[in-house]
Amino acid sequence: MTEKQNRFSEETLSIWRDTVHLPAFSPLKGACATDVLVVGAGITGITTAYMLAKRGVQVTLIDASKLASGTTGYTTAKISAQHGLIYDHLIRSMGEEKAALYYQANKEGLHWIGNHIKENDLHCDFNMQPSILYATSDKEAQDIEKEKKAYDQLGILGTLTDSVPLPFAVKNALIMPGQAQFHPLMYLHELIAELVKMNVPIYEETLAETIEEKETERQVKTKNGSISCQHVLICSHFPFYDYRFYFARMFPERSYLLACETDGALPDGMYLSAGIRNARFAGCI
Ligand SMILES: Cc1cc2nc3c(=O)[nH]c(=O)nc-3n(C[C@H](O)[C@H](O)[C@H](O)COP(=O)(O)OP(=O)(O)OC[C@H]3O[C@@H](n4cnc5c(N)ncnc54)[C@H](O)[C@@H]3O)c2cc1C
Repeated sequence: MTEKQNRFSEETLSIWRDTVHLPAFSPLKGACATDVLVVGAGITGITTAYMLAKRGVQVTLIDASKLASGTTGYTTAKISAQHGLIYDHLIRSMGEEKAALYYQANKEGLHWIGNHIKENDLHCDFNMQPSILYATSDKEAQDIEKEKKAYDQLGILGTLTDSVPLPFAVKNALIMPGQAQFHPLMYLHELIAELVKMNVPIYEETLAETIEEKETERQVKTKNGSISCQHVLICSHFPFYDYRFYFARMFPERSYLLACETDGALPDGMYLSAGIRNARFAGCI
C-alpha cells in the first residue's frame, strides 16, 4: 500500500473526527440546575447552546456520548439548501407555503453559518460552492425537470444544464449556486471554545433518560444524576422523551460514505445523484 493510500486506511471512520480533536468533558454526577438544558451535542445542540448563551441565557449542554460523535461527525460537510429532489415533493405533499419556508430556513442557516465564520474569523475550510443535482437516467432527468419547475414556483435560483464536468455521462443537472462546504469539526471546535469561555457547563457520557414535568420546572433524569430546568431542548436527532408516538414512526437507516484521494484535481462543486432517494445518502464528490 502506498503512503497516499495508507493515510485514509480502512480504520478511518471519519476524516473530520480524525483530523480535529475536540476537548473532553466529564459526565454529570449528582444534581444541578439551569434555565435551559440542551440534550444532544451534535451541530444542532452545540449551535443552539451557543446562540442561547450569547443572548445571556443560562444554558447547560449534555451528550450521551462524546461531542459531535453522532451523525454530525460523519457527514458530507455540505451546507446547502439542495437536499436532493425535495422541493417538488414538498410542494405536492405540504403545499407551496411550507416548501418555501423549508427553503428559507435552510438559506438562513447557510447565511448564519457563513456570517458567523466571517465575523469571527473562524478557520474551518469554509468555501462557497455550487450544489449540483445530476441525472444519469431518463427517469432522473424528468425528475430534475420537475424539480426545476418547483424551483421556479418557489423563486429558488437554479440553472438547468446538460453539461457538468463529471467524468461520466450525465443526462441533465440542476445547479443551485451560492452553497458552501466546510470542515464541520473545525467549525464546532471554535463554537465549543466559545461555550467554554462563556462558562457553559458541558457534560459528556450523560444520557438523558426521561423528563419529569413538575409544576414550575422540569427535571431531566440522567444516568448518574438529574438536572432541574425551565426548558428542555431535545437536540438528540430523535426524541428520547416521547409524547407524540414518534417512536411508532421511527425506523433505522444506515448510509455509507467513501472518502478517497484522487490522482488529479476534482472539479469544483458538490455533486449529488438524483437517483439517490434522499440527500443524506451521499453520492457526492
Ligand atoms: C451519511 C450522512 C451524510 C450527511 N451529510 C450532510 C451534509 O453534508 N450536510 C448536512 O447539512 N447534513 C448532512 N447530513 C444530515 C446530518 O445528520 C445533519 O445535518 C446533522 O449532522 C444532524 O446533527 P444533529 O446535531 O441534529 O444530530 P447528531 O449529530 O446525530 O447529534 C445528536 C446527539 O444527541 C446525542 N443524544 C442522543 N440521545 C441522547 C440522550 N438521550 N441524551 C443525551 N444525548 C443524546 C447523541 O449522542 C448525538 O451526539 C448527513 C447525514 C448522513 C447520515
